[in-house]
Amino acid sequence: MFEPPDNEWIKGSHWLTSALLGCVPGIVHGFSCNLHAIPGNHEPGFDIQIVSTAEQVHSNRVEIIGPDVPPVPIPGADGLVTSSRNIALGIRTADCVPLLLAHKNGKCIAAAHAGWRGTLKNIASEAVKKMCSLLSCPAGELIACIGPAIGPCCFEVGENVARDFEGRIGRAVVSRGADRKMRVDLLKANRIELERAGLEGRHIETISLCTMCRADLFPSYRRNPSEVTEKGSRIWSLIVRKG
Ligand SMILES: [Zn+2]
Repeated sequence: MFEPPDNEWIKGSHWLTSALLGCVPGIVHGFSCNLHAIPGNHEPGFDIQIVSTAEQVHSNRVEIIGPDVPPVPIPGADGLVTSSRNIALGIRTADCVPLLLAHKNGKCIAAAHAGWRGTLKNIASEAVKKMCSLLSCPAGELIACIGPAIGPCCFEVGENVARDFEGRIGRAVVSRGADRKMRVDLLKANRIELERAGLEGRHIETISLCTMCRADLFPSYRRNPSEVTEKGSRIWSLIVRKG
């Protein structure tokens, strides 16, 4: 389980990192945690020339990015995979789940946007499949980090959405609070999907900081929609294979 060393460290660096992904050779990654972070502005480790992004339309489409990546978001995609060096993969979120993945030897990386729709469509497993097909490797060789997103404390859903999660992923990700409202645990749902796709549990890290609770660290669409729609505040989740 991820534990931030302390708030000063978070505020000073502006990037949260995963201990697991941090052990992968040749990879730099991070989840921005100040409200107006832009790639390349804060962390010397992020000397990024190219950031490849996805259109993010709540699909389960994951695209493989080659060295000649176009300078626009990849249309219709919510996930990106590459084995090319110096092409950062970037996902923008404000409550949805950002997923960052890497092969344990650093040969390939992926980033994906898993909102509740994408989670139900199993985008996590699509990212794993694309990486495994690119490398011809088993999923057991992959490492994943489930980044900061709206937690089970705050993610209220309607009865129909709760029923979909219970049916497709399992009862463990759905709960009814004392207020009678249904809540879904998107972090656990993505962990279950990654394990079903073949990752080992010990190769998956979850950053359990709720975007809605932690107004000091993250934008949250549910907490403050105008901050997201008008100011454009998002968490940037980035990963790059360094050259
Ligand atoms: Zn919360």
